[in-house]
Amino acid sequence: MDERKGTLSIVGIGPGSAPHTSPAALEAITSADVVVGYITYIKLVRHLTEGKEIIRTGMTEEIGRARAAVERARDGARVAIISSGDAGVYGMAGLVFQVLQEMGWKRGDSPELRIVPGMTALNSCASLVGAPLGHDFCAISLSDLLTPWSVIAKRLEAAASADFVIALYNPASGRRTRQIVEAHDIILRHRPGTTPVALVKSAYRKLEEKILTDLDHFLDFEIGMLTTVLIGSTNTFVFEGYIVTPRGYTNKYTWDGEAIAGQTPGRSLIVPEPPGEVV
Ligand code: SAH
Repeated sequence: MDERKGTLSIVGIGPGSAPHTSPAALEAITSADVVVGYITYIKLVRHLTEGKEIIRTGMTEEIGRARAAVERARDGARVAIISSGDAGVYGMAGLVFQVLQEMGWKRGDSPELRIVPGMTALNSCASLVGAPLGHDFCAISLSDLLTPWSVIAKRLEAAASADFVIALYNPASGRRTRQIVEAHDIILRHRPGTTPVALVKSAYRKLEEKILTDLDHFLDFEIGMLTTVLIGSTNTFVFEGYIVTPRGYTNKYTWDGEAIAGQTPGRSLIVPEPPGEVV
């Protein structure tokens, strides 16, 4: 075996347009000998990969792809394994660690690991529709290919009842259409049908589309593999075609920046009686 120590960079390339890929991600890809990734992502960075060895595989071959990346890097190559968005968010990073664990890798062994963060779909999609993530939010993937639906349904129920803004990743695909309907039904049990919802498809890519709608109506629109569904909390509102979830400043301050009577800057919010808008 080659004694040279390789590097394995696990790289999030952001949503898909060059300006939204970080300089660190660009550097990791341009300095690699081998670039590994799902075919669509390889295409998104093809301008950076000329002359490099490319290992591109289809959607259901993740384990083989992760193993190939790790083995090449272990044997001395500089390998970049790329995911869209952030590689650690429903991406390849976790699987790469499981492959390393399986092969008995220890810190200090080859390959050296570098993890390069990327802008996840939550951030890119939110930026296209306003400020929907201004208060507590969570991400739930509706894909039941690797997770039992009962677990996903339980998380939807918990997030909906606790009034989180909810981002749904992997909401539907050609074959998987039932989950988004069930998610809709669960969430509607906990918040009004008028709750703002944004559907963002292919954010920062050629076929970008965004739709602002509400909980009662969002199933009337096309939702697929490239869509992220952002569902507001009970405090989320629409303003000039933007979706906004307030942080809560107006619970405490007037528009002149003065604390409202009874409130103290830097101290816990005093909930007025009867309870006002607490966000
Ligand atoms: N690692 C990726 C997520 C991969 S899971 C990330 O951090 O963004 C795949 C899901 O991510 C898709 O089904 C979709 O819900 C979401 N997604 C990824 N890229 C997107 C984009 N450009 N626009 C909208 N949604 C996107």
